[in-house]
Amino acid sequence: MVSKRTKLQLKIILLGDIGVGKTSILNQHVAQLFPSTQFVTRIPPDFLVKDATVNDRQVTLQFWDPAGHERFETIHKPWYRRSHCCVLVYDINNEKSFQSLKKWLKECHDACFHDMHNSPVILLGNKVDDGEKRQVTPEHALQFCAENGNIPYFETSAKDATNLQEAFGTAARFALGYK
Ligand code: GDP
Ligand code: MG
Repeated sequence: MVSKRTKLQLKIILLGDIGVGKTSILNQHVAQLFPSTQFVTRIPPDFLVKDATVNDRQVTLQFWDPAGHERFETIHKPWYRRSHCCVLVYDINNEKSFQSLKKWLKECHDACFHDMHNSPVILLGNKVDDGEKRQVTPEHALQFCAENGNIPYFETSAKDATNLQEAFGTAARFALGYK
């Protein structure tokens, strides 16, 4: 009998302050849309799906968007459950959103990935298309990444899709390795 391999579902969560571009990044990456039209449903769980081939395996990527709940400083624990990768996002033109990364990373570690130095997390510095008012240098971001378990770093734009393929390729490989 031929055994049918069930398609893996990999859950990738996006985290970061409100306004950094999480929803726009997802809409651009999954549906090539910018500016983003709002999701139809606002009832959690709120996620987009995309089929992909990762290391020769057919998988379904589920991208989970906090969809406004990040406004309340903390996201309830069930939202994090069974995540395979976390994509942290800040806005390079907003220092405060960079300062918040520590909090989001801690919340993410507490809720789903417990090993600080070996967890499937990547960091995006978003809005590079609009970097004239930049408040956070790449060096600063890389230092944060080095201090928090060598997190891969990408400077992205949801507007023109800069580095989104590369970033989500890495996120998917991390997710598969962590399933
Ligand atoms: P979220 O709260 O993190 O989901 O952020 P949104 O996706 O709602 O984006 C907040 C605002 O930033 C919106 O006005 C977007 O159009 C804008 N935005 C998001 N990403 C980018 C980007 O890469 N470049 C530029 N120029 N604007 C962006
Ligand atoms: Mg949003």
